[in-house]
Amino acid sequence: MARLETKQSKKLFLAAKKIIPGGVNSPVRAFRSVGGTPLFIARAKGATVTDVDGNVFLDYVSSWGPMILGHAHPKVVSAIRGAAGKGTSYGAPTEGEVTLANLIRGAFPSISKVRLVSSGTEAAMSAVRLARGFTGRDKIVKFEGCYHGHADSMLVKAGSGALTFGQPDSPGVPADLARHTLTATFNDVASVRRLFERNRGKIAAVVVEPVPGNMGVVLPAPGFLDALRKITRQEGALLVFDEVISGFRVAFGGAQELFGIAPDLTVLGKIIGGGLPVGAFGGRGDVMDALSPVGPVYQAGTLSGNPLAVAAGIACLKELSRKGTYGKLGEKADYLAEGLHGAFAKSGVPTWTNRVGSMWTTFFRKGPVVDYASAKGSDTAAYAKYFHGLLDRGIYTAPSQFEAGFVSLAHTRKDLDRTIAAARGALAQF
Ligand SMILES: *Cc1c(COP(=O)(O)O)cnc(C)c1O
Repeated sequence: MARLETKQSKKLFLAAKKIIPGGVNSPVRAFRSVGGTPLFIARAKGATVTDVDGNVFLDYVSSWGPMILGHAHPKVVSAIRGAAGKGTSYGAPTEGEVTLANLIRGAFPSISKVRLVSSGTEAAMSAVRLARGFTGRDKIVKFEGCYHGHADSMLVKAGSGALTFGQPDSPGVPADLARHTLTATFNDVASVRRLFERNRGKIAAVVVEPVPGNMGVVLPAPGFLDALRKITRQEGALLVFDEVISGFRVAFGGAQELFGIAPDLTVLGKIIGGGLPVGAFGGRGDVMDALSPVGPVYQAGTLSGNPLAVAAGIACLKELSRKGTYGKLGEKADYLAEGLHGAFAKSGVPTWTNRVGSMWTTFFRKGPVVDYASAKGSDTAAYAKYFHGLLDRGIYTAPSQFEAGFVSLAHTRKDLDRTIAAARGALAQF
């Protein structure tokens, strides 16, 4: 197998590193955990991305989730072109914002009002402020290994020894702030109960990825999300579902549709922008009306509800709302999962795969993987080897073990067969 020729990417990466920290504008793009040079992408279409050296890859990174229709979908591109000709930003309300908000509310019955922002980080940060403002409480509970963007309050995972006081994950996050972020163990209801017992009347919200994708994909154990709903209701705290990945991914109405649970607030991003920068948070009307200008909780954005981004989001959600879309996506994902399962079984390499619909992670360890600790037990060197084996065979997957792969509607049966064959080839070298 010829090693990939990436001369132009290497050249650009050298230039980038001189002017952009680490050469990238978001850390996980840098290939640090798998080694090698990140690919600089020149263009993308359907299921493929093409790098600056002209290599074409089948893409399962999907821009980390948004590209569920595939790249450069004609309807999305034409919506953006149409919007661009009418001006790119007004700083005033537009009809498109009402349309997108209605599309979101139509998919998520728990959302009665919604506000648009420009990223998932901004949406999660704003939802937390709103939960704190609405309840008059400062503390929040999050789960180890769940990612909710890089806002100060959310950049805390804490160790299992720090169940009472959070510790910041990053310099620059004041410890005085991080101590208000309490960390529980995913799929462990008792760890949540303990935090409430020790902080009675002080917890504003439990924030959770109902299907975590940021420690790799992990499934909620039966009853886990129900228990969170029950505990938060009993304790007067809000339940916040971060569905930035799972929203419009695991079902049109996200994980809350799949598991039949109505959170108080929902955080969205990724898919709802059709590949442009959009985030949203929404939920109960009484909670959302605590937001400025109706209520006292301040939140704002110069480019919030940007007409281009909103046009792309509307086109994307309309396409997804067509009958049979998720059935079709699920069939593709089932087919790929079955093929990959066969390849892994035959190879004898110990792996464990978690999957919900079209998002999945294969962990290089014996299973089961149910939380952050078990995910962390994966053999990341084996993952890196597999990653490069796939890349050399024209398959582009996440350059980290602790991420999800995404099947899009643009992947054809032939693409999936090629992917399975590439996996076999990559594993044969173990
Ligand atoms: C990606 C992600 C975010 C952050 O969204 P950005 O648009 O990258 O700021 C928040 N929560 C979850 C679950 C995510 O996957």
